[in-house]
Amino acid sequence: MSYVDEVIKEVVERNPGEPEFHQAVKEVLESIRVVVEANEEQFRRDALLERLVNPERQIKFRVPWIDDNGNVHVNSGYRVQYNSAIGPYKGGIRLHPSVNFGIIKFLGFEQIFKNSLTGLPIGGGKGGSDFDPKGKSDREIMSFCQSFMTELCKYIGADTDVPAGDIGTGAREIGYMYGQYKRIKGVFEGVLTGKGLSYGGSLARTQATGYGLLYITDEMLKSKGISIEGKTVAVSGAGNVAIYAIEKAQQLGAKVVTCSDSNGWVYDPDGIDLAALKEIKEVKRARLTEYKNYRPNSEYHEGRGVWSIKVDIALPCATQNELHLEDAKALVKNGAIAVCEGANMPTTREATEYLMENGIFFLPGKAANAGGVATSALEMSQNSERLSWSFEEVDSKLKGIMVGIFHNIDNAARKYGFEGNYVVGANIAGFEKVVNAMNAQGIV
Ligand code: NDP
Repeated sequence: MSYVDEVIKEVVERNPGEPEFHQAVKEVLESIRVVVEANEEQFRRDALLERLVNPERQIKFRVPWIDDNGNVHVNSGYRVQYNSAIGPYKGGIRLHPSVNFGIIKFLGFEQIFKNSLTGLPIGGGKGGSDFDPKGKSDREIMSFCQSFMTELCKYIGADTDVPAGDIGTGAREIGYMYGQYKRIKGVFEGVLTGKGLSYGGSLARTQATGYGLLYITDEMLKSKGISIEGKTVAVSGAGNVAIYAIEKAQQLGAKVVTCSDSNGWVYDPDGIDLAALKEIKEVKRARLTEYKNYRPNSEYHEGRGVWSIKVDIALPCATQNELHLEDAKALVKNGAIAVCEGANMPTTREATEYLMENGIFFLPGKAANAGGVATSALEMSQNSERLSWSFEEVDSKLKGIMVGIFHNIDNAARKYGFEGNYVVGANIAGFEKVVNAMNAQGIV
């Protein structure tokens, strides 16, 4: 059995009941097979792949909190410090009932390569809790966040591990967590990113993942001689990534006709009304059923269905495994040209394969959504030098990073004979830098 297959088998056997983690490891290891085979003797001798797939440290802790009626609840908190070969651990905190070690490990593993692709000095990590922020009062959110940070603060720091937002963790949650960190540790340092502008946050961080997704999509299309202007786009999700992907797509002259949340989806043939969407999601924290009140000509449907609409470009921006094989078939049948992942691993493996076999340009999340973490790293730089850069300065650095990532993964794919396969390109380009650093640092 080849070294890659041996390690995949071992990961599945030693991490039972963690399908998303298995899926992420398989995708990465299978696509770097060509590099591993070229260095098999040394990699085996140094157990390089075993060290890559096993986190440096994983922490699980109890998070007790009290609701508004005085009832005590206990959730689980997680932090996986995956790989620090190229910098301090960096990766978001997910608050969602589906969170467990398997989900956090899949996200942390992906994060290693994504962070490497940004070209910035950040290692890979991820954290979260099975706490559900939906329907909770501000006071309950604060109670949870303070309890979560009371334990997490023992393991993080501006030079060791710098968490950020993710699903369910936005500016409000980061604020409560930051306040508690500062209160316990007594230091004002850049230990979290995604902070508010009045206490060390970076301009353009809120927009960064969505904007970055469109910058790299635009660059990829340009490399094929295609303009994004006038294209029709389907977006899923209605959170941070989705909203700012829609905003930048509209600025670039595309028409976005869908968005969704976990209950249903909206089809607006005239183009999504962004001001209405922001008011519903960012101000009222309400459901998408409200969208029709703003736009009577739009349609609201319960359940899934965003990918059934005829579009040129699909941007999945909600969650993992939300674009299935039948969705991929519908997109191909409807003449789509590109699928670019704003979320982490939103496309199933079968769907990814089908899309690529059918000539769809496919940009994987670890490259396409790296703008968020890249801008988080820019926030860390600003915190370290105690300066704040202008929106234009951060945005232009973000654009430069995304354009750079596209050419980096495009070149890596070509170099190994996989021209146009950006999954292979992203995994190899991300992997090479991490492996060089791991090799230089010895068996640790
Ligand atoms: P948000 O919590 O702001 O928004 C998530 C959106 O996806 C919401 O509309 C939510 O609907 C929907 N959603 C979540 N879970 C499900 C589900 N199981 N089924 C259907 N819809 C769902 O999160 P973000 O926008 O920050 O993150 C979205 C994705 O992007 C995630 O995969 C995240 O890991 C990834 N990402 C985020 C980055 C960032 O900077 N924020 C950076 C890089 C990647 P509802 O409100 O109903 O739950």
